[in-house]
Amino acid sequence: MKNYYDTLGISKSASKDEIKKAFHKLAHKYHPDKSGGDEAKFKEVNEAYQVLHDDQKRSQYDTYGDNPPSGGGYGGAGGFEGFDFSNFGGFGNQSSGGGGFEFDLGDMFGGMFGGGRQSHARRGNDLQTNINIDFKDSIFGIEKEIQIKKPSTCNTCKGTGAKHGTDLETCTQCSGKGSVRNIQRTILGSIATNVTCDKCHGVGKIPKSPCEHCRGSGVVNESRTIKVSIPAGIQNGETLRINGMGEAISLGTSGDLYIRLGVSPHKTIVRQKNDLVTSLSIKLTDALLGAQYAIETLDGSISVTIPTGTRVGDDIVLKNYGVPTSHNKRGNFIIKLNITLPSKLSKSAKEIIEQLKQEGI
Ligand code: ZN
Repeated sequence: MKNYYDTLGISKSASKDEIKKAFHKLAHKYHPDKSGGDEAKFKEVNEAYQVLHDDQKRSQYDTYGDNPPSGGGYGGAGGFEGFDFSNFGGFGNQSSGGGGFEFDLGDMFGGMFGGGRQSHARRGNDLQTNINIDFKDSIFGIEKEIQIKKPSTCNTCKGTGAKHGTDLETCTQCSGKGSVRNIQRTILGSIATNVTCDKCHGVGKIPKSPCEHCRGSGVVNESRTIKVSIPAGIQNGETLRINGMGEAISLGTSGDLYIRLGVSPHKTIVRQKNDLVTSLSIKLTDALLGAQYAIETLDGSISVTIPTGTRVGDDIVLKNYGVPTSHNKRGNFIIKLNITLPSKLSKSAKEIIEQLKQEGI
């Protein structure tokens, strides 16, 4: 195993500043463009720096060495579904999946398969949940917090499964190689394959003491609060995808969370594309003479003028009171007018209407 600390000539407790200084000094010394430079050493120094100056990579390196589970050195997909780190004592059942084998057919096929490890990342399942929001929130958007109980990355060990500060020991199943040799009989004859070790998941090491919180699995089934930003203008039945908020999985990436939105209908307003539509019944006299009406919009109550001589089927359009669209624009708020006719007339009302009739109205 490469020791990045030795490569840079620093101690394990070196500060970020010390790492940077050591790197600059050595990169300068070994730079291949210089006389007396050394390309191989330069690359080693660079590799060590790339890992140690990144807090997350450094912590993973301190735990797993130069063969991190999420890195390129981690191969194999089939065969460790449902593996449980809490079961350290026993050998997990290897379900032989199709993926994850390294073919080693000698020179003839070596180039074809690239010779390298096939890396299939483990990924947790996607999850789906439903939430309901108010009509107004669907128009303007809203930040929502939802509670969901699901397998999540352990916060205590950050998913490594190792108790903080504890060492790792060599995996007894693969003697630290991360893979086990497997001879398969096929129509091409016997094929030697390297199968990812299912005990250490190809890492070659396992923690001496597992994390107490997740019992070494790196994953806990807990209730988590997730902030969901619901965009303006979303419609009933639409689905949002939240990356990485699905099911977490040991030594792999989390799935995604899909949230299906239900929008509760509004009492008086409906949506038509980017417009909001309501209806208003006005009196016959208001239609004839004009009037002011208070209208409930999503921006609050607005006073609207009914013009003199309003006819059945006329609309009043309030521009930019509709659904927000791109570039800070909004659709319209449309008021569809109904004129209520009296079903019964008083004696005096009847007389007045008779007069109107004589006037030809
Ligand atoms: Zn943990």
